[in-house]
Amino acid sequence: MSRLDLFIDRMVSQRACLDYAIAQTAAMPGPVFELGLGNGRTYHHMREKIEGRDIYVFERAVASHPDSTPEEAFTLLGDVMETLPAALARFGPTASLVHADLGGHNRAKNDVFARKVSPLIEPLLAEGGLMVSSDRMYFETLTELPLPEGAVEGRCFIYRK
Ligand code: SAM
Repeated sequence: MSRLDLFIDRMVSQRACLDYAIAQTAAMPGPVFELGLGNGRTYHHMREKIEGRDIYVFERAVASHPDSTPEEAFTLLGDVMETLPAALARFGPTASLVHADLGGHNRAKNDVFARKVSPLIEPLLAEGGLMVSSDRMYFETLTELPLPEGAVEGRCFIYRK
């Protein structure tokens, strides 16, 4: 499989999983957390599709497309290892949806990071809330869900609290 194939699978899977998770949590009032802004493509997608919920973005250095840059009040700047615990103190277990796309090209490194960040994400979700990730996560109390149609196994993961 070429890098182009892998990239396309990841993009198609992100969209399918996000659309599914957005629809499943539409009736929940709690905030949405985007972990890793990057270029801002998935943030832009979420902003287009999500109504009536605040979207907060966690990013250590904002470098997104101007159309996909959140307002300062909705940007939680810094390393997620610090901003996630601060978000728990601020919001409590209220998030309706968390999307994480924090990884780079090194899958082994991504896996090590996923193990570290999972316990910081887990307590942020409200009951029934969903977590969508590009990497396998390591949760104690969340249930992994089957992928929606169009998503490719191993390219995206969905968990429910
Ligand atoms: N989903 C985005 C999009 O559609 O454009 C791409 C996200 S990009 C793959 C990953 C982003 O996560 C980078 O912008 C990086 O700076 C951010 N990131 C990685 N590790 C982080 C950390 N520990 N704390 C905060 N941000 C981090």
